[in-house]
Amino acid sequence: GVRPAPESGSEALAQLHRVFGYEAFRGDQEAIIEHVVSGGDAVVLMPTGGGKSLCYQIPALVRPGTGVVISPLIALMQDQVDALRALGVRAGFVNSTQDFDERRVVEAEFLAGELDLLYLAPERLRLESTLGLLARGKISVFAIDEAHCVSQWGHDFRPDYLALSLLGERWPDVPRIALTATATHTTHQEITGRLNMPDARHFVASFDRPNIQYRIVPKADPKKQLLSFLREEHAGDAGIVYCLSRNSVEKTAEFLTRNDVEAVPYHAGLDAGTRAAHQSRFLREDGLVVVATIAFGMGIDKPDVRFVAHLDLPKSVEGYYQETGRAGRDGLPSTAWMAYGLNDVIQQRKLIQSGEGDEAFRRRAQAHLDAMLALCETARCRRGQLLTYFGQDPETGACGNCDTCLVPPDTWDGTIASQKVLSTVWRLDRERRQKFGSVQIVDILLGRRTAKVIQFDHDQLSVFGKGEELTEGEWRGVVRQLLAQGLLAVEGEFGTLVLTEASGAVLRGDREVPLRREPKKPAVSRSSSGT
Ligand code: ADP
Ligand code: ZN
Repeated sequence: GVRPAPESGSEALAQLHRVFGYEAFRGDQEAIIEHVVSGGDAVVLMPTGGGKSLCYQIPALVRPGTGVVISPLIALMQDQVDALRALGVRAGFVNSTQDFDERRVVEAEFLAGELDLLYLAPERLRLESTLGLLARGKISVFAIDEAHCVSQWGHDFRPDYLALSLLGERWPDVPRIALTATATHTTHQEITGRLNMPDARHFVASFDRPNIQYRIVPKADPKKQLLSFLREEHAGDAGIVYCLSRNSVEKTAEFLTRNDVEAVPYHAGLDAGTRAAHQSRFLREDGLVVVATIAFGMGIDKPDVRFVAHLDLPKSVEGYYQETGRAGRDGLPSTAWMAYGLNDVIQQRKLIQSGEGDEAFRRRAQAHLDAMLALCETARCRRGQLLTYFGQDPETGACGNCDTCLVPPDTWDGTIASQKVLSTVWRLDRERRQKFGSVQIVDILLGRRTAKVIQFDHDQLSVFGKGEELTEGEWRGVVRQLLAQGLLAVEGEFGTLVLTEASGAVLRGDREVPLRREPKKPAVSRSSSGT
C-alpha cells in the first residue's frame, strides 16, 4: 500500500542516465525500482542478462543510506565493486578474501555514510559483529542476490541463506529485494517463505530468450562435432564451451587451437593469474572461445557471446538455462548447442549414486537430472519444454527456433528393440557372476564375439546376435532413451545396467515404448533451416 513519491520516478531515471549512461529502463526495471524506492519489498524473477543489478543499485542511489547486497559470489565482488567505482558509485565489499586492514577501511566508510553499496557474503551475517556493524550504520535497502540459494530443493542450496530471514525482523523498515534467475514454482515459494517476505510484490519476467536457438545433438565424436558446428555457423565468433572435467577442458582447448580456432581454457585448477588473464581476454577480444568448467561465466557480462556449447550434460535444467543464458545478451541471434550421449547419462547417474550426501540429496539430484534428460529426449519444442519447466506456459506450441521445431524428430515404435535390451539385461543379471554395462549389452545384441563375450559364454545366450537390425549407435540410443525414461537404471561405480520396476510392463508387452529416431546427420545447420 505504499505510494511512490512523485519525484522518485524521475530521480531513478536521472540516475540511469547520469550514472549508468543508459537511455531507458528495460522490462519491469522501472516498476521494480519505483516499488523499492518507495519502501516496498520485492521478489524479482528475471532471467540471466535481464538486468537485475540496476533493480537494487538505483534504489540504493536514490534512497538515503547504504544499499547492502548479499551475494554468494565472493569471487566476483572485487570486479563488481571496481565496475561500480569506475562509474563513480561509492561501492565496497566485505568478505573472507580481505585482510583485517582492508576490511576496517570499508567498515569505516560504511559507518561514515560514505558508501552507496556494500556487498556482503551471506556467511558474514552469521557473525554478531557484522550485525552490530550494520546496526550502527544507515541502510537504504537490502538486496538478496541469487535468492534461489535459500531453496533446499534447488540446485544451489546454501545454508547461510536460511539466516537471512532475520533481516526483516531486525530491520523492519528497510525494504528488501530478493532476486534470482531461477523461476520454478517451488523455488519461488521457498524464497517468499524462507526469507519471510509475505507482503513482497512479485515481478516475474518472461524466461523466454527468443534470440537463442536451442539445439541438442546426439554425441558421436564431440570435439569434431563441435569443430564443424563452429566452422559452419560461428567462425570468428566469441563463445563459451562447457565441459565437465578440467582434463577435457584442457584437451578441447588444445584441439580447437590446433584447428585454428582461438581458444583458451578456464577451470579452477589454473592459477588465479591465468584465469584472470583468460577472462579479461574473453571480455576484451572479439572472437575468443573460452573452454571452461561451470566455474566460468557467473556474472560475466559480455553482450556478444554468440554461442554456448555443452560437451557434457549439465546436472539440471536450471544450470543449463543459466549457462546457455550467457549467449546473446545483446538480443542478436545466438546458439545454445549441446552434444549429449549415453555415457553422459551413465556417468551422471554414477556420480549421484557414489557421491556425497544423504538419500534425500540423492533423490533431489536424481530429479534434477531426470528433468534435464527429459529436455534432451523430448520430441516437443525445446523452448516450450524449458518454459513449462520454469512454470511459464509457452505462447505457441512451436517456437520455430529450436532443433525440434526446425526438423521435427521422427519417432518410431521401439517396443521390440526395448524388449531385446531389457531381456539381455535381465539374463545377465540372472547370472549374478558379474555385472555388465552398456558395451557388453550392445556387443551381445550385435553378435560380436569379443574377448569378454567369449569369456562369459555370452555367445550362447538366446539374445546373441538378435539385434542386427540396428547399428551400434542406434542401440546406444535405445539404451540412453530407456535410461531417460526410467525403464533402465544404473547401479554402482561401474555403471552396471539393471532393470527398474517399470521394466516389467515392457517385457510383458503391456507397455509400448515410443523412441526418438537418431538423426543421421548429427547437426541441424542454420542454412538448411529454410523458411
Ligand atoms: P542479470 O544480473 O539479470 O544477469 P545484469 O544486471 O548483469 O543482468 O545486466 C545485464 C546487462 O544488461 C548488463 O550489461 C547491464 O549493464 C545491461 N543493462 C541492464 N539494464 C539496462 C538498461 N536499462 N539499458 C541498457 N542496458 C542495460
Ligand atoms: Zn521450438
